[in-house]
This record gives sequence, structure tokens and C-alpha cells, in this order.
Amino acid sequence: MVEHSDLMVLLARTTPKEQAAKKTEGLSAFLIDVQAAVGNGLTIQPIDSMINHHSCELFFDDLRIPADNLLGEEGKGFKVILDGMNAERILIAAECVGDGRYFIDKATAYAKSRVVFDRPIGQNQGVQFPIARCYAEVEAASLMVEKAARMFDAGEACGAEANMAKMLASEASWRAGDVCMQTHGGFAFAKEYHIERKFRETRLYQIAPISTNLILSFIGEHVLGMPRSF
Ligand SMILES: Cc1cc2nc3c(=O)[nH]c(=O)nc-3n(C[C@H](O)[C@H](O)[C@H](O)COP(=O)(O)OP(=O)(O)OC[C@H]3O[C@@H](n4cnc5c(N)ncnc54)[C@H](O)[C@@H]3O)c2cc1C
Repeated sequence: MVEHSDLMVLLARTTPKEQAAKKTEGLSAFLIDVQAAVGNGLTIQPIDSMINHHSCELFFDDLRIPADNLLGEEGKGFKVILDGMNAERILIAAECVGDGRYFIDKATAYAKSRVVFDRPIGQNQGVQFPIARCYAEVEAASLMVEKAARMFDAGEACGAEANMAKMLASEASWRAGDVCMQTHGGFAFAKEYHIERKFRETRLYQIAPISTNLILSFIGEHVLGMPRSF
């Protein structure tokens, strides 16, 4: 995405870790003019990826940032990033709900129209039930997305809800993609159906912007109070 962005939020350590009270302090957030920075301390290296755009590796080498580009308070940048992370997780979760509904709509339509052995395949419970289950899972995830969004809009702490929404929605959309593939049989692989493309794209969200294990670790430690594992 950085290839198509004008601005980037960068979190950089501005006080050495050993001098900061906590490791999350002494970090500052900066707004970077991407076009101006490229070639002046920032190198962007695109990586060919299995999704519809590159992911990119960034290299910083003596990039100079105007002091005015500081976001929020110096040394308190982690809070700025955390706030943005919740918004990003809720946004991605909403995207996954959309993906899930796309797969379910496609699977349902195909299950109704494709006739094998003189009946629509969707008349068979072996085809119908997985789609119905995915529908229930996506709608349940959607409720958590709405809850997280409402809390975010109200300015409430919503780290747990944003994380849970992202985890539940990314898993529900992935399962819906899998069921959609299965429902379409061989045609699932035909590019004109766009299922294989969406299937690849929605897989990303169990890894980025945060992987499922780290969400579970956040819930285990910060919501349920269990010991920190790393
Ligand atoms: C297409 C794409 C776009 C991206 N866009 C952005 C972007 O715009 N901005 C940005 O900042 N980042 C972006 N990322 C990076 C993304 O946020 C990271 O890839 C993601 O957070 C996972 O981190 P990692 O790749 O370092 O995995 P790692 O940290 O190396 O983890 C690898 C695996 O090990 C597991 N793991 C690691 N530690 C533990 C542990 N202690 N316990 C249990 N399991 C563990 C993880 O869950 C994961 O499954 C993007 C990535 C991709 C693929």
C-alpha cells in the first residue's frame, strides 16, 4: 500500500529503551511525506505477493523528519499508534464480513442453480449446511465488529473488542471462502468466478495487520489476566 500512499505514520524510538520507564515509552509517532522521503533516506522495496497488491519492505537510512511532523506528544507515540491500530482492526474486520457475505451469496446462488443428478446441489444437506453455518458465523462476527465500532466512535477503550472482531471475522470469511470453493466444485478454480482471487485475498487477514496468535495472547493476558507468555 505504501506504493500508493502520500503519507505514512512512522513510529520511531526517540529515547533509548534502557532510559525509558517502560519499553512502550520513548517512542514517537511522525507523519511522513512518502514521496519526499523516497530517495532521501527511505527506500521502498516491493515484494511480489499472492494478493492484489505488493507488500513492501521499507529501509530507513538517516531519514530526516521536520519536527512539525511529530504526531501527539514526543515519547508517547505508542498511544497514537494503538488508537490507529484499533481503527485498522475494526476496518479490516468489516472488510472480512463483506468478504464472508460475498462468498455466502455466491455459494448460495450457485447451490440453487447448479443441477447434478436432477436436483440443485443446494438441496443436499451436505452442501446446504456448511453454507448456513458460515452465514451464522459471519453474522455473529458482524455483531462484534459493530460493537467494537460503536465503542471506538464513543471514544471508549476497545482493544479487546477490536481484536476479537478482527479474529472472528477473518476466520469466518476464510471458512466461507473455503465453503464457497467447495460448493463451486471445479469452477471454483476458474478465474472468471473471482472466487480463487477473493479466497487468496481474505487469507491475509489471519496474519495482517496482526496474527491470530497475538490476538489470543492479548485476550489471554490483558482480558483474562493469565501470565504473559513472551
Ligand atoms: C500483504 C501484507 C500487507 C501488510 N501491510 C502492512 C502495513 O501496511 N503496515 C504494517 O505495519 N505492516 C504490514 N504488514 C505486516 C503485517 O502486519 C505482519 O506480517 C503481521 O503483523 C505478522 O508479523 P510477522 O510477519 O512479523 O510475523 P511473525 O511475528 O514472524 O510471526 C510468524 C508466525 O508466528 C506466530 N508467532 C510469533 N510469535 C509468537 C508467539 N510468541 N506465540 C505464538 N505465536 C507466535 C505468529 O502468530 C505468526 O503466525 C503487511 C503484511 C502483509 C503480508
